[in-house]
Amino acid sequence: MATTSPLSRAIRDFAVVGGGIAGCTVAYELARRGHSVTLYEQSSIAHAASGRNMGLLLNQVEVEVVKIMRHSLEIYREVEHAARPFNLRQLPQLLLARDAEQMKVARAHAAALREIGVEAQPLDPQQVRSEVPQLSEDIQGGYLLPGAWALDPAPATQAFAEAARVAGAEIRTGARVSAIDRHGVFTDEGRRPAGGVIVASGPWAVDLLPSLPVTAARGWVLLTAALPFALPWIVEEMSWPDQDRLGRASRLPTLADVASGGHDEPAASALALAPLTDGRALIGTSMAPSLREAVEGLDMPQRVAARALEIAPGLRDVSIARAWYGMRPMAPDGMPIVGRLGESGVFVHGGHGSLGMMTAPATARWLVDEILGETRPELKSLSPARFAESASSAPSRLSSGGTAPAP
Ligand SMILES: Cc1cc2nc3c(=O)[nH]c(=O)nc-3n(C[C@H](O)[C@H](O)[C@H](O)COP(=O)(O)OP(=O)(O)OC[C@H]3O[C@@H](n4cnc5c(N)ncnc54)[C@H](O)[C@@H]3O)c2cc1C
Repeated sequence: MATTSPLSRAIRDFAVVGGGIAGCTVAYELARRGHSVTLYEQSSIAHAASGRNMGLLLNQVEVEVVKIMRHSLEIYREVEHAARPFNLRQLPQLLLARDAEQMKVARAHAAALREIGVEAQPLDPQQVRSEVPQLSEDIQGGYLLPGAWALDPAPATQAFAEAARVAGAEIRTGARVSAIDRHGVFTDEGRRPAGGVIVASGPWAVDLLPSLPVTAARGWVLLTAALPFALPWIVEEMSWPDQDRLGRASRLPTLADVASGGHDEPAASALALAPLTDGRALIGTSMAPSLREAVEGLDMPQRVAARALEIAPGLRDVSIARAWYGMRPMAPDGMPIVGRLGESGVFVHGGHGSLGMMTAPATARWLVDEILGETRPELKSLSPARFAESASSAPSRLSSGGTAPAP
């Protein structure tokens, strides 16, 4: 049942920090409901991970994530024709097993997905290779899932920014927020008052809220030239850990890790092969703890390419046009952090990790529902309060005096 809090009655004007998918979806939600909102982006819209990811909305094995993803899909459809096109398209997803161990994982994932109504059709190695002969003769087979989706991530993020602008939001790019408090934000142009501040600045959120348990995890993508064959599926190797392991794998490196020179070793890597609408394809991806500003991970394009060739030797002669990285904002359990911080009028929409394109439209809608006084049960498990205990047991990371109270 909807309840109205005194806070939600008081706030009419909002500042949103960050012009990635997390910030643009929140700005859209606030503006379309008639609230005054200014979004501050230090660079340009979608210039960070939100414009540099693989754009996949996949059937994850965690039931909760699939449900959030389905809700996000409905919201993408809302803005799809209203703002700018972003090639939202349905594609089958192949859970590919290259050895017996991965086959076990694929089987377990297929069973879990069937329980939530996702069909999973087993394919033997011959069936897989008859569609994609470029794959190795050694693969064990896999499961074909209908109902995965892909989109072009930068235009999708820009579409939310544009839809927010059309609904009345002010979108300010090249505007860095250097500090926040309960009365608004500070930029190079001075204080900008706001009744509510939503921090949605990806892995940089800790610069404004040092108590937030978010780390940066660097991931790489290769872009091919046009493929000389049609790739019928999104191919996903079954070695990507679950959200919880991913979150824990992206802890901060220790001084000893940095001293040994191995802090940027990937915590996870798996082949993901995704066809684009123009015949090219994306090859990914990896995840490595990052110090953000350090030069690191220089061998990752090579590692991603080598892994791809082990699994798909027939891609050997495909030209690679570009490679780039993005920084995932990781929470300790790999799930988004969404909600109010204390009673301060400061809210967080962050920590979307590997799932930002899949989950941010839905979590933004629920967050704004809550800000406006409704209770959203979906956000209970995503609340910043879930880290309160670990915050008190990790003082070195979490006690350095944020502008809002620790969750
Ligand atoms: C290689 C790779 C592949 C991925 N593939 C997928 C995928 O297929 N599907 C999926 O769902 N997710 C995927 N992800 C994850 C997804 O990209 C992220 O979860 C998502 O983009 C995070 O969005 P965000 O808005 O929180 O952060 P960002 O996109 O990083 O945006 C934060 C913005 O805040 C701005 N900012 C920071 N500090 C300030 C400040 N002080 N003042 C003003 N502005 C500020 C930054 O400039 C930036 O633009 C992938 C990520 C990577 C790296």
